[in-house]
Amino acid sequence: MYADLQIPRDIYNTEEHEMLRETVREYVKQHVLPYREEWEEESCCSREAWLKAGELGLLNLSISDKYGGGGLDFSFSALLIEEMSKMGPDSPAISMHSDIVAPYIEQYGSEEQKHHYLPKMATGELIGSLAMTEPSTGSDLQAIKTTAVDKGDYWLLNGSKTFITIGYSSDFSLVACKTRPGTPQEGVSMLIVDATLDGFSKGKPFKKLGLKTSDTCELFFEDVKVPKDRLLGQEGTGFIMMMTELPRERLTVAIQAVGAAEGAIESVIEYTSERTAFKQPIAGFQNTQFKVAEAAMKLQLNQCYVDKCTELLKEHKLTAEQASVAKCTATDMQFEVLDQCLQLHGGYGFMWEYQICRMFADSRVSRIYAGTNEIMKVMVARKLFNNYFAELKAKRKAKKMAAQN
Ligand SMILES: Cc1cc2nc3c(=O)[nH]c(=O)nc-3n(C[C@H](O)[C@H](O)[C@H](O)COP(=O)(O)OP(=O)(O)OC[C@H]3O[C@@H](n4cnc5c(N)ncnc54)[C@H](O)[C@@H]3O)c2cc1C
Repeated sequence: MYADLQIPRDIYNTEEHEMLRETVREYVKQHVLPYREEWEEESCCSREAWLKAGELGLLNLSISDKYGGGGLDFSFSALLIEEMSKMGPDSPAISMHSDIVAPYIEQYGSEEQKHHYLPKMATGELIGSLAMTEPSTGSDLQAIKTTAVDKGDYWLLNGSKTFITIGYSSDFSLVACKTRPGTPQEGVSMLIVDATLDGFSKGKPFKKLGLKTSDTCELFFEDVKVPKDRLLGQEGTGFIMMMTELPRERLTVAIQAVGAAEGAIESVIEYTSERTAFKQPIAGFQNTQFKVAEAAMKLQLNQCYVDKCTELLKEHKLTAEQASVAKCTATDMQFEVLDQCLQLHGGYGFMWEYQICRMFADSRVSRIYAGTNEIMKVMVARKLFNNYFAELKAKRKAKKMAAQN
């Protein structure tokens, strides 16, 4: 089995980690997998699943216990993400809620905001989403068009967002918007927008290639009066916040990728050991053994790198480029490994009731969301060609100043 090949993993090294692993596995078996088809029909999972996760202490694991969270370090979140991904289900999207949305509030929120949102997020009574992407822009976040104009007592929010994970289920959304539209800086800011506010509406969950039980939808804002105290952090710092938080989001996708690849390898070993062709198990063909060995080798290298990034994040040292490397290489590996594992299932691999089929469909988006893999390469290349970009910037600045004089 793949577990026997792994070099020891230092990141999950306590009894508490093992206890969490058991809890996650039981939760998925009892409260997620039995409802999968129902949720696929609805393109959305139930609130009960969130509440159950809250009851078992599986939400907001890395958020301070002062705000109702688990008070644990990020390795516990990583274990939860990996274990769920290994078992296959894409819902509930705990990592989006607990490891992406909640940290924004914990890091940048006022005490009132933290006490209002975080304890209820930990129980599942409140679900949070993050809305950056718009119909006309995803990769280029500086080009967002949603605006929030200061009206004295409130922000007047107008615009729309798309592809928002758990947007349909969420009770509030962190919305990236421009608070000084028309000025040179434009002031990208983040607002916490409650779904109950007048003028805030949601599209129906999209029908997708994969991640069918996790809702993804459009959000619309038409003259929404967002209370002044729902600004997250300082006005005009939204872009910096997103750039600071995106490495964590990218690492969670890399962790999911590693988990999915491990789950697929374990299941293909089992399947090919039982299925026969030409009077012998499929596992008896050297091609099968080599393909699975290659998959395991690729996974092993990625797992080591992703584990290192988890450690770095725990120590608040993970850089944007390291997270980009993890996200890009782990999700490319995930896609290759799942494709290979599906191939070894033959025709059954193409059947929806087979786990490998769902996992393959789910894996496709990993190279797209949280920043496409092309954008990850842009980030890495920018670092490599640092001097070239610095010179280019200086030339542009000089040209601009000359034009002004
Ligand atoms: C299932 C799902 C869930 C999502 N969840 C969320 C969410 O919760 N919140 C949220 O805000 N967003 C979410 N997204 C949006 C996601 O982050 C964007 O789809 C992604 O960042 C790409 O943006 P885009 O779709 O606008 O593609 P585009 O930016 O239009 O890109 C199209 C193509 O052009 C390439 N490209 C763009 N710029 C460059 C460049 N500079 N160099 C080279 N190639 C480039 C891209 O790599 C891509 O291949 C989700 C998307 C999906 C599919």
